[in-house]
Amino acid sequence: MLTKTQKWIEAGKLIAENPDIKVLCPECEQNNLEVQDIRNEHNSSELERIMYCPNCKARNILRLKR
Ligand SMILES: [Zn+2]
Repeated sequence: MLTKTQKWIEAGKLIAENPDIKVLCPECEQNNLEVQDIRNEHNSSELERIMYCPNCKARNILRLKR
């Protein structure tokens, strides 16, 4: 069985392949994750991707290179 950390990593991979994919929240498994990309003002080649669950408020931030 996957740990929650591994599920977050898997969710990140799925979203990287298909930004519109619906991924179930690794914490509560009740709601799909919402994704928000935020550009780093100080470094335009870097992007922060926030995966957020509106149900249980869990969130995980990935730092991406473009
Ligand atoms: Zn949740």
